[in-house]
Amino acid sequence: MAKLTLSDLEHVYPNGHRGLIDINLQIQPGEFITLVGPSGSGKTTLLRTLAGFFQPSAGSINIGDTLVAGDKTWVSPERRDLGMVFQEHAVWPHMTVFQNVSYPLKRKRFAAADIAQHVTAVLEDVGMAEHMKKKPTALSGGQRQRVALARAMVAQPQALLLDEALSALDEPLRARLRQQLRRLTMEEGLTTVHVTHDRSEALALADRVIVLNRGRIVQDASPAEILTKPANSFVAAFMSDAAVLQGSWTNGTFYPDDKGLYIQPDALASQPQREITGVRCVATVAPEDIRLETIGAHQPADTTVGTVTSVLAVRFGTELTVTWSGGEFEVYAPVGAMIPKISDRVAVHFDRVHVFQDSAMTTHAVHA
Ligand code: ADP
Ligand code: MG
Repeated sequence: MAKLTLSDLEHVYPNGHRGLIDINLQIQPGEFITLVGPSGSGKTTLLRTLAGFFQPSAGSINIGDTLVAGDKTWVSPERRDLGMVFQEHAVWPHMTVFQNVSYPLKRKRFAAADIAQHVTAVLEDVGMAEHMKKKPTALSGGQRQRVALARAMVAQPQALLLDEALSALDEPLRARLRQQLRRLTMEEGLTTVHVTHDRSEALALADRVIVLNRGRIVQDASPAEILTKPANSFVAAFMSDAAVLQGSWTNGTFYPDDKGLYIQPDALASQPQREITGVRCVATVAPEDIRLETIGAHQPADTTVGTVTSVLAVRFGTELTVTWSGGEFEVYAPVGAMIPKISDRVAVHFDRVHVFQDSAMTTHAVHA
């Protein structure tokens, strides 16, 4: 396990597209980080640049104390000593499971007896020991991914790089493999970079989450911080499905453009400085930070009123959609909360609102 250091990294594709911009990232030995972002945000580009398939246009990469890219230095992928798993086709079809997993040890010139011992141990770890003699075609997709994981880990690489390695699998297998992955990397103390577009997976697995958008890191924080202190409206909208409300910020108050919206001052969890005044702003509110109540006979005038347009029972409560004159909110109601019916008019209370000076128009992803 090694520390990974990416400094001022840039990648420009031959057609001029800037795939990575100003990437600065330090990953500690044994740390498990997830790299998350919408499709086209640069996740694969970052992982492949780290792996050595792409040469950065600027900046440098260190694996442990070794400079592997930058400053006229270039270390080829096979000499970077990294374990890698991609979404699919990650194992060689003409080799048995045993041969697939022994390959990295052969390259490192391990003795045959040591190879057998290591391969058996890692295949037991991923629950594939009894399939050792099979060819990948005789395995299910989930089993093949487990073989790929075993092969990536067997030689105790400096770091494990996973690009959507679980994304092609169906639940509940995917959840099980996710747990296995976390347990094994912890036991082995493996530095891991796990790329996923699945936001819950990113938050559930990581010590630290790196959110990418349009080739840039837009937030680098713990999972809890990503949810409670999003860095901008893009992170709030992408990671939490937050609604984005346009408005302005004047004298410490957010004024929504929509006059039917009322946000109580004590709901503001983060906000621009008081001195910043008369500027365009956006407010974001996450589905779990909205409470719905029945409209009473003496409802105060400053109540946001909406109409329920969708009610879905989910495992941990209810997901609702509430529309109001200016748009719609997703609302997560926990078990035990008041659950209205479709077409009910309800009072909408905001428990936690973030106000950002960024504009959602300019920070949102452009999907390819
Ligand atoms: P992600 O893995 O987050 O979905 P990628 O890293 O694959 O995103 O791509 C990032 C951006 O770079 C996208 O806009 C994509 O269209 C562009 N891109 C990827 N590969 C190439 C290429 N070979 N030439 C030009 N642009 C590319
Ligand atoms: Mg990708």
